[in-house]
Amino acid sequence: MERQYFLGLDVGGTKVEGSVAELDSHTHSINVFSKKRISSIHNVSEFVDSVATLIADLLSESKISIDELRAIGIALPGTLDPKTSTMLNGNTLFLIGHDIVGMLQKKLNTKTPIVAQNDANLFTLAEAWGGAGKNYEAHKGVPFKDQVVVGITLGTGVGGGFVTQGKILKGAHGSALEVGHVVLQSGGNKCYCGQQGCAETYLSGTAINKTMDSKILLEKASQGSQEVLQFMIDYRINLVQFMSILNNLFNPHYFVFGGGLSSQRILFEDLKTDLEENIFLSKEYCPDIYINHLGDSSGLFGAMIYASEVLDA
Ligand SMILES: [Zn+2]
Repeated sequence: MERQYFLGLDVGGTKVEGSVAELDSHTHSINVFSKKRISSIHNVSEFVDSVATLIADLLSESKISIDELRAIGIALPGTLDPKTSTMLNGNTLFLIGHDIVGMLQKKLNTKTPIVAQNDANLFTLAEAWGGAGKNYEAHKGVPFKDQVVVGITLGTGVGGGFVTQGKILKGAHGSALEVGHVVLQSGGNKCYCGQQGCAETYLSGTAINKTMDSKILLEKASQGSQEVLQFMIDYRINLVQFMSILNNLFNPHYFVFGGGLSSQRILFEDLKTDLEENIFLSKEYCPDIYINHLGDSSGLFGAMIYASEVLDA
């Protein structure tokens, strides 16, 4: 059976987005039956109650029962313990230390498997499986399972994921690819993690907003403001250095960008030309660069694809 039903949840800040869909593992396509978003969640008990209601609404809209689902997959905004799925760290503080999967399994009183994974890892998996990866396969002839992929999310924070042989790299304690906390400038900007000079403090939307509202800044850049152009040059230098470090570590076929800032094309113009000057091998081996193909849904879809792969393993 190649087509199966999944429910995906993407948790971020104070909102949760959910969807029920059918995955086709042969064509790597996703047929969405329902999609819904809830917001204003501020503590863990509110979270579990609201998510249970969201799941019931999505299933009723899709006319599918919970027993017909192959699994429920959850994208969480933090580092997850690979054994227990407890969130060990992240910027949605009320989720830290809680066994979200266990709490939901109990609340829903279901035998349908529930799995969770870090959202940036799932973004990367979704794009490799059914987004940028399809484009790469069409142009370069390298199928999903043979692709080596680094995903970078530039949003409130900076996250990352690494997929090789169709699998996410989690690390011993789930914090592999916490690339936002790679130090770009020794003794630089203070970061909430306790270090100084983390990539996140230069490349995230939050970092840009400290200089100027990111939307105004990007607008002014396109109008040729000198001050803003200098900011963009500095941003680009940091971004290229960051990618060069990741390329030296992971040597991907391509990078794929997600997160709120990835829609600002001006940040990525001619980026490959700059990166070519900063890699160990010659230019022809420079990774390709993609902006996400699945838009805001990559977390949701990634959660479903991951659930499918965990159960097949
Ligand atoms: Zn940090």
